[in-house]
Amino acid sequence: MGLKARTRKWVALLVAVLFGIGFAAVLFLPYPERIGTEKDSYAVLWSDGSVTEESYASACALLAGISEEGDILFSRGTLKGTYAGGEDLRAARAVLEEGTLLPMLTMDLPLDRLERAALYDVYADMLYYDTDDWFAFNGEKVALCGIGKAETVFFTGGELRASVLSLTEAKTLIVGDDAELSYETLYGTSVRVRGKTRYIVENGAIVDSLLGGTLTAGEPLAADIFVPDVAVCAQGALLPCRGLVSLSLPFVGSGPVAAGEGFFGELGYLFSEGEAYFVPQTLKRVEVRGGALVSFAFYHCPSLEEIDACGVDPSDIERQAFDGLGSLRYLHTPRADVTLENAAKFTTYVAECGCTVYERRDRS
Ligand SMILES: [Zn+2]
Repeated sequence: MGLKARTRKWVALLVAVLFGIGFAAVLFLPYPERIGTEKDSYAVLWSDGSVTEESYASACALLAGISEEGDILFSRGTLKGTYAGGEDLRAARAVLEEGTLLPMLTMDLPLDRLERAALYDVYADMLYYDTDDWFAFNGEKVALCGIGKAETVFFTGGELRASVLSLTEAKTLIVGDDAELSYETLYGTSVRVRGKTRYIVENGAIVDSLLGGTLTAGEPLAADIFVPDVAVCAQGALLPCRGLVSLSLPFVGSGPVAAGEGFFGELGYLFSEGEAYFVPQTLKRVEVRGGALVSFAFYHCPSLEEIDACGVDPSDIERQAFDGLGSLRYLHTPRADVTLENAAKFTTYVAECGCTVYERRDRS
């Protein structure tokens, strides 16, 4: 090793030691002194055009979020205020919103104390979950933590069971693209669900947009669900929906074509766990827009009163498709010669679309 190289090595070591001492010293200083460039006051621009100088403490008391652009938002009475945050705050917010684990855990941005306080104000009530581990933003960084109560759970990856999710008492579940969502995450909970990119939550239906679309689950609190034109419906997908009243489906069962080993043609498939069916008593109305209707397609739907199958090709409807439904009062079917329980109590007429309508007018 030459003299020059040796000198460089010692300089590097010295720098490292000094940096270490300095860093350690900084850690033991009281909070306000830690960063020399902290501001004493912040000029907040209000929605009425006025500008006020706020101390750190008064600014913290007025915090009302962070905009997508990274501006700190305030609220005082009916007034909304803003303080231009830096590029670093915008970046930090984006990382916490994105919920990808590695960027969150390695996030190291030079934020000032008001920016950190604004982030904490927004994200303190959010827990991140990834494959059995829980994380949270602690005011400085995102770090591993234990499970606790939280307003929002961000499900970033792996699998999450409802029994575990319930312990957080979360009201909102955000589902990231690496999360493997199924009914087992939601069954027995009452969370509202928000998807990032992969999972699309609309009209009570949660669709995994990969592979042509799969109905993965229904939102637990949904009373009316419209399932869009997906390729597959997962078994038990609607089990979480214990107060479901009306349902519109692209087909009944697991898929649109009544063939193949994996096909299940009963509505109850969407409410089944193993061999058991748990169709809620609240479910009164079903609209079917296509696919095929096998015999006893509505088996084990104890309270179903209305079925509209207008969109189904009559040749794809088996004669006994609507049979076995003691509560049925209204049926709109493209195939006319179907069998019904209590058939004698129904009157029929032909609708404008050409379908046959069966209607029961008696009181029970
Ligand atoms: Zn019709």
